[in-house]
Amino acid sequence: MTIPEPPLSRQASAYALGSQYGRAYLETLSDRSVLAEKSDLDALNLALPDQGVSAETILELMNRVGSPGTMASAAGRYFGYVIGGSLPAASGARTLLSAWDQTANSDTGPSVIKLEEIAIRWAIDLLDLPTESTGAFTTGATMANMTLLMTARDRQLDRLGHPRGKGLIGAPALRVIASAEIHATVLKSLRMIGLGSDAIEFVPVDDQGRMRADQMPDLDPSCLVLAQAGNVCTGSFDPFDALADQCQAAGAWLHVDGAFGLWARASSQLAPALVGLQRADSWVVDAHKTLNAPYDSGLALCRHPDELRASMAIGAGYLPKTDPTPSDLAPEFSRAARGAETWAALLSLGRQGLDDMVTRFHHQAASIVPRLEALGFDVPHQVHFNQVFVTRPGEDALCAKVVKHVQQSGEAWFGAATWQGQNGFRISLSNWATQDQDLDRLIGALETALGDLA
Ligand SMILES: *Cc1c(COP(=O)(O)O)cnc(C)c1O
Repeated sequence: MTIPEPPLSRQASAYALGSQYGRAYLETLSDRSVLAEKSDLDALNLALPDQGVSAETILELMNRVGSPGTMASAAGRYFGYVIGGSLPAASGARTLLSAWDQTANSDTGPSVIKLEEIAIRWAIDLLDLPTESTGAFTTGATMANMTLLMTARDRQLDRLGHPRGKGLIGAPALRVIASAEIHATVLKSLRMIGLGSDAIEFVPVDDQGRMRADQMPDLDPSCLVLAQAGNVCTGSFDPFDALADQCQAAGAWLHVDGAFGLWARASSQLAPALVGLQRADSWVVDAHKTLNAPYDSGLALCRHPDELRASMAIGAGYLPKTDPTPSDLAPEFSRAARGAETWAALLSLGRQGLDDMVTRFHHQAASIVPRLEALGFDVPHQVHFNQVFVTRPGEDALCAKVVKHVQQSGEAWFGAATWQGQNGFRISLSNWATQDQDLDRLIGALETALGDLA
């Protein structure tokens, strides 16, 4: 007679097998094509069997077909969007978290909410935001923007004599004032909180994509002003000081979407470009982009803890709560304890290490500009942070072909982009694992593309 294995030994074996495959994946990823191998993906599409399959069989299939079917965005030659990689400690923390399987609330995950609280305090400190601020982890900047814009909406309506318990029913009109180059997801965040995106008063931007403070409409207490730290094409930062002056004088709420760019504030070299940032009412920053924590992880930070809690608490949220728990500050009730990965990321870097990493993204971005220009490309903006928008004036069609050629080569990956009426592509330096030789291969792939297409 065989004695059945105890349930958790079986989980432990599957866990070890998963991390064994993960290890092999990471050890070969840097040499692999950046492109996903998609031809076998149908092999995942099994008819759901009547009787379940062993964990070993499942993980073998997932690794055999799923691993090659990934984009190699965790390695150093992926320059699309602002994806970032995963710092070793943060990636390791993710695996341990998966064994713990905690949900991040005070009764259900004591140690993980401690880690999250510490990570939030560290982030507020590193970003040099007001010490009275608080925050919450969300799945990303889209949800963090939603969380804070909802808080802003409720607070402004309350000030106009419409208590937050009433929601939007019978509410006075609010005005949304935003950068003409605000991120597309912010429009969705606005729609999710019932403000829509058709009536936004867009503020013109300058030739770097920065909001023009001298073109702001007159503000009043019905206004939500949406600025950004990190223009997704140029990396530029809005003029926070001038915007804060106007918002404070009028009683408007100033919100900053800094999904990838807010971390520039942790670079001693770049911080001066974000002067006045601390004067805003709320800030969004992702952990999964430039900080290089694993997906999915964003932070909603607010200088008015009571307002955030009043808008986000479970139940009659506008009633004060005595024992706040993360679900009273963020949209979800049950959720992954993702903040622990940010805790691990920040602890593994330390203050100086974070400064070095963020500053390195900037140096890498600046270093490729002369090399791109030597190939006949044009970068029509200053390098403010880690984003580089590239064009080839009068040669849009060639530019588009270059993008496809490089993508197909598997040597590097970046995406086509359009900015201020110019067509081209965008290169993001946001992965801790990107080294000089990766930049050499990026430039080499562009050179080869131009040669092949000539
Ligand atoms: C990526 C990004 C977002 C959306 O963030 P998610 O984490 O993908 O939800 C919002 N704003 C800016 C500026 C971004 O770069």
